[in-house]
Amino acid sequence: MSDVIIIGNGPAGISAALYTARAGVVTTIIGRDLGSLNKAEKIENYYGLSQPVTGKDLAIIGINQAMSVGAKYVEEQVVGILYYGEKFVVQTNKDGYAADSVIIATGSQRSAPRIKGITEFEGKGISYCAVCDAFFYRKKDVAVLGYTDYALHEANELSPVANSVTFLTNSETLIAEVPDEYNVNTNKIAAFEGDDKLTTVRFENGETLAVDGVFIAYGVAGSADLARKIGAETENNKILVDESMSTNISGLFAAGDCTGGMLQVAKAVYEGAKAGTEAVKFVRRLKK
Ligand SMILES: Cc1cc2nc3c(=O)[nH]c(=O)nc-3n(C[C@H](O)[C@H](O)[C@H](O)COP(=O)(O)OP(=O)(O)OC[C@H]3O[C@@H](n4cnc5c(N)ncnc54)[C@H](O)[C@@H]3O)c2cc1C
Repeated sequence: MSDVIIIGNGPAGISAALYTARAGVVTTIIGRDLGSLNKAEKIENYYGLSQPVTGKDLAIIGINQAMSVGAKYVEEQVVGILYYGEKFVVQTNKDGYAADSVIIATGSQRSAPRIKGITEFEGKGISYCAVCDAFFYRKKDVAVLGYTDYALHEANELSPVANSVTFLTNSETLIAEVPDEYNVNTNKIAAFEGDDKLTTVRFENGETLAVDGVFIAYGVAGSADLARKIGAETENNKILVDESMSTNISGLFAAGDCTGGMLQVAKAVYEGAKAGTEAVKFVRRLKK
């Protein structure tokens, strides 16, 4: 049994583990892949980097760092959490793990529909992060693939710098209230096309749209589903926390992209550190 289980091995989860493990609290991190960082071609806006680093490298460095200070790392997929008053059981696809406290740091899954070319052009015109990549599309024609408020949020990040922003709903009903300044195209997409870089969106009706970039914002993450399973409050699929990263469930904390706000490494690291520190206090109080 662990004192603390951290679900998620991204910047938030690893940062939390550095604080819990170094405080002598028995810590298990459960993660299923390298998360958002694995999609980041390079990171250069985080403190202390003398040169850009790939997201994948940063993620692996973090996991090794947490293990070096005593955290246990389990590579499994969490499918549920049970809460028995003062104890949690985290269920994975392989096992069940008990703990006094749980930190959810599962990021904000960015789901994408299966469209030809979407994976091929990732980092070459297809992006999953407007706040990260808008700078590279100054005065360019971009599109946002999505239909919810998340897509609108991404469009609002892009519009001050881009020449034009078009919503591509891929035949989904537009849920967000899109201002007139944006173009909306509701046609079903057949493929993203180009040579080295994305240049064209081809629709099933044969029409095409010339683009320099497409930002994927298709629905929101599943982190909130885990939280909801044990009655933690969520809003717009983000987990609600107070300033100490506590949810409304005693002993359950959340940190990083899954709490919303700025989807950046720096914010995830801060929230992880805070959640870790608070989880240590919580566990020590229980043991007294
Ligand atoms: C293309 C791209 C470029 C980016 N560029 C930058 C940048 O330049 N600078 C910057 O600061 N930020 C950038 N970001 C954002 C940054 O990657 C995220 O803000 C940051 O990784 C969030 O950290 P996190 O720990 O909250 O979540 P994540 O890094 O997403 O980690 C979540 C972890 O939870 C795990 N997980 C999820 N669900 C489960 C489950 N059910 N069971 C087990 N494990 C689970 C995943 O395996 C993952 O490791 C970029 C993001 C993308 C997608």
